Amino acid sequence: MAHSESPEVKTSNFLRHIVEADLAAGTHASRHWCGKPGSGPQQQAGAPDPAKIRTRFPPEPNGYLHFGHAKSILLNFGLARDYGGACHLRFDDTNPEKEELEYVEAIIDAVHWLGCDWGDNLYHASDYFDFMYQAAEYLIQAGHAYVDSQSASDMRTNRGTLTAAGKDSPYRNRSAAESLDLFHRMKAGEFPDGSHVLRARIDMASPNINLRDPAIYRIRHATHHRTGDRFCVYPMYTFAHPIEDALENITHSICTLEFEDQRPFYDWLLERLAEGSLLARPLPRQYEFSRLNLTYVVLSKRKLIQLVEEKHVAGWDDPRMPTLVGARRRGFTPEGFQMFAERIGVTKSDSMIDMSVLEECQREHLNDIAPRRIAVLDPLKLILTNVAPDHEELCEAPNHPQKSEWGKRSVPFSRELWIEREDFTETPPKGYFRLFPGNRVRLRYGFVIECTGCEKDAAGNVTAVLAELLPDSKSGTPGADTYKVKGNIHWLSARHAYPSEVRLYDRLFAVPAPGARREGDPEDLERDFLDDLNPDSMQTIAVQLEPALKDALPEDRFQFERHGYFVADRVASRHGAPVFNRAVTLKDSWSKGK
Ligand code: ATP
Ligand code: MG
Repeated sequence: MAHSESPEVKTSNFLRHIVEADLAAGTHASRHWCGKPGSGPQQQAGAPDPAKIRTRFPPEPNGYLHFGHAKSILLNFGLARDYGGACHLRFDDTNPEKEELEYVEAIIDAVHWLGCDWGDNLYHASDYFDFMYQAAEYLIQAGHAYVDSQSASDMRTNRGTLTAAGKDSPYRNRSAAESLDLFHRMKAGEFPDGSHVLRARIDMASPNINLRDPAIYRIRHATHHRTGDRFCVYPMYTFAHPIEDALENITHSICTLEFEDQRPFYDWLLERLAEGSLLARPLPRQYEFSRLNLTYVVLSKRKLIQLVEEKHVAGWDDPRMPTLVGARRRGFTPEGFQMFAERIGVTKSDSMIDMSVLEECQREHLNDIAPRRIAVLDPLKLILTNVAPDHEELCEAPNHPQKSEWGKRSVPFSRELWIEREDFTETPPKGYFRLFPGNRVRLRYGFVIECTGCEKDAAGNVTAVLAELLPDSKSGTPGADTYKVKGNIHWLSARHAYPSEVRLYDRLFAVPAPGARREGDPEDLERDFLDDLNPDSMQTIAVQLEPALKDALPEDRFQFERHGYFVADRVASRHGAPVFNRAVTLKDSWSKGK
């Protein structure tokens, strides 16, 4: 990963402790690796595994990656990087119906963008279908699995409840030979979807419902995006996932808390397959951490898909979306996400993280990397009446106030300037130090001027501000500091400025928990998260920009002084005509109550 210069110190967490203890005890030291995923005998024939640990990020390619995935990605790749290991990118594509190639490519791009490198370890769970099928045959032969032919509803009824034990299926005592024959015919396509299912034979009375003979293979007459029509039986996720980990020599299989109750089955299954010598020991171990919950967004693929399909946003990469493609277009940085992941840490208890934490991390990193530029977002003409119409000169502005090594740039100055409309008023409130008739301000990096009045249209709107320049007051020239003024405003030469478009993005939702019940409102049980969309989450404005910004390349990031951090949009910018998106404001305006 490309974060070696990250200013953050790595904070420890319970997973780091587990990995460190395993490394100290040599828990995984005896593993062999044949250079690719494989069965127990295949791995044993290889050399000792050069990777001290192996972790994985296993997305299902059924949507774009969101901020929650970033936490998991940075955790898994971070552990591998820090402990001499490898982290695999694995497409968990065992469900034939919902997966698409578009998502596969988007996931690869997003993980790369975050700075993570999987080397040669890019895998597809569907490549393991043959092994999974053989593992199922083995379980049947060894008496650990049987074909059940109950209806789905009988199966549900007989599973029991949290307080009542389940009931054995009438098919539970089928002979291995009969189950094997049925399983082969399931694969041969003889039966319709749902007519038979292969189940593990464990314990219908287990207090853990997940151990009450869980289904491991089902019939699905569906075309898979990689294996086509080769199979009409597909493994269940809970069966497939442990096998995928084992074939890939994963040492620490890290998942979110809701899988905690699945861990006993994970271990049961791998133990059985190791007993049958299909897998090599030591086996992978599963660990759970709490998923990321963030305020002001939704992090569920189902809801994100709905936002896109119903066109509440412009697409998956809409800069307001909590997707990684959205964040990228917004101007967020991988390093900002890395800082965020370190700051929120990894725990086993569920919590809600405030969006302002992520925004602050982005702001801190952008402050560090973004050159300063001038932008006038609400332009009003300022005419310097004592400057000649054809006069031109250059002023020097630093590229970064704390980084003198970044040097200075020249900004053209002339008689007619653009200033912010809010930097002038005819009737100043108390404490207003900017332009009003009779007041002096400094044009930042330029001259001190004194306001003499303004011009108005018939409706009384101010169309231009008038001022006189004080000739010996230019910043950086001898004697300039003798002028003591309280106001300091930014400006652009009207003749030289680059007129462009800026999109001001704000939070997509107006409330911290979109769709949640409102406190003190007992009628309000079912609310739609869409009702909480922020109607002001995007504004497109016509602006005037410093001439140098015309040359900005897509994804170049800047601080527009006094306004925030902006990025040249990677989609909408044309060559020589960039348009900019606001990534974050300079200060958090939400926590103060907007
Ligand atoms: P969703 O619930 O949004 O559909 P998912 O968990 O089904 O997400 P997967 O593609 O299966 O999506 O996720 C890949 C990995 O990302 C999993 O290991 C999962 O644990 C992790 N992950 C998903 N959401 C979060 C989250 N909010 N916080 C941390 N990790 C997450
Ligand atoms: Mg999932």
